Amino acid sequence: MSLLSPEWTAILYLIAAVCFILALKGLNSPRTARRGNLIGAAGALLAVVTVFLSSRLENIPLILAAIAVGSAIAAPIARRVQMTQMPQLVALFNGVGGGAAALVAVLELGHNADTWVRVAVVFTMLVGAVSFSGSAVTVAKLQELITTRPVIFPGMRWVMSAVLIAALVVGGFVIATGSAGWAIALLLLGLAAGLLLVLPVGGADVPIVISLLNAFTGLAVAASGIVLGNLLLVVAGTLVGASGTILTRAMASAMGRGVSGIMFGAFRGGSTAGSTAQSDRPVRSSGPEDVAVLLAYAQRVVIVPGYGLAVAQGQHTIAELATTLAARGVEVDFAIHPVAGRMPGHMNVLLAEANVPYESLKEMAEVNPEFKHADVALVVGANDVVNPAAKSSPGSPIYGMPILEVGQARQVIFLKRSMRPGFAGIENELLYDPKTSLLFGDAKDSLTKVLGAVNAL
Ligand code: NDP
Repeated sequence: MSLLSPEWTAILYLIAAVCFILALKGLNSPRTARRGNLIGAAGALLAVVTVFLSSRLENIPLILAAIAVGSAIAAPIARRVQMTQMPQLVALFNGVGGGAAALVAVLELGHNADTWVRVAVVFTMLVGAVSFSGSAVTVAKLQELITTRPVIFPGMRWVMSAVLIAALVVGGFVIATGSAGWAIALLLLGLAAGLLLVLPVGGADVPIVISLLNAFTGLAVAASGIVLGNLLLVVAGTLVGASGTILTRAMASAMGRGVSGIMFGAFRGGSTAGSTAQSDRPVRSSGPEDVAVLLAYAQRVVIVPGYGLAVAQGQHTIAELATTLAARGVEVDFAIHPVAGRMPGHMNVLLAEANVPYESLKEMAEVNPEFKHADVALVVGANDVVNPAAKSSPGSPIYGMPILEVGQARQVIFLKRSMRPGFAGIENELLYDPKTSLLFGDAKDSLTKVLGAVNAL
């Protein structure tokens, strides 16, 4: 016998659904994101407890054991993960969610002969399996366990088409017969489709595919809600599907690309994986004291943070440098490119950690007209997001991506360790510009030295 009446179950599910919506709303801004996350987690906890109280579950010890094992694995990983590895973690959790939905659907197949439920089962299995194997490939690429370049082989398009057609046919057999054998064949085809879909994606596009697969998992979970007759799963899955789709589109448009170009660009030679060749042309390098003088006697400085700042964990030092310069009367802003770093909002999160006031963070559209009034653009561990090739070289892999116009500032200073290119693997002409100087070294070390030199002036 269940402890909760259907009415109470519906009310608790409704509260959980409202929590999910409030969570998404909270995640809209860095100010409220932490609270949004907590509200979402509370909604998920409420939903799980409601399932236990409202259903006649079999095998409760086994279910609790599985929850304990999952939590024991996930919690330490989530605690220890570096900020720069967050996309991999999201991809991993997302893929496991898609895989779980697919397995639940397989198990439900034996219990339900309704045609429409079987259609939902087939959809869940196929999309869940695609999400699982596709996410596994994105994790391997971002973790550099396999090459980050597009992997394509002759005839890949045809193999992909054959797999998709076979999946549709086999899906039809599953609906008609409910056979476990056909269901396993469908799962295998879904896994193959996930691999074939994501292997050709390379370079800077992988995080966008993670977001797309996240939307897929949402849809698979929503369909599994139909299979299980659980309305909350339908609501939660639809929210994930819709928000994942919006995020995917927003990320793609920030990179100046279409989603289909990202998924199938490698077949047309349009992926963002470029060459990693470096030239040995001369550049102007500076010492920390020179940089300190330029900054301390400037009227306006725009700081452009990028992935390297996160790697170096230099956010506190850069915040201190900005405060020190401001105290000397320098007007200091941070220019935030939407895809700087390795995940959406990466720079906002990083700088919020160091208590940089939100008012100092300027979005690309707002800050770009300001560069021509800036005495110094200080580029710290950023490269692709300031690379003029995005505007001037039609053949370049990042061509079309809007950039921060740092080249318009009177002086440009790059803090980086070497002449290696950024994520897209292409050279940055701005490094060789006569008004550019480079301070080589780890960003945190360099910032510490510059800060010391400014204080000594
Ligand atoms: P990039 O990857 O272009 O450049 C990073 C720079 O940081 C490199 O020049 C590197 O040079 C330098 N660097 C690395 N480690 C350190 C360190 N410890 N100290 C100092 N410098 C360091 O980063 P951007 O932020 O400019 O661009 C982000 C890239 O990621 C873009 O290509 C974007 O498209 C892609 N991307 C981002 C997404 C997002 O959501 N944020 C999503 C999808 C893609 P060196 O090795 O010489 O030090």
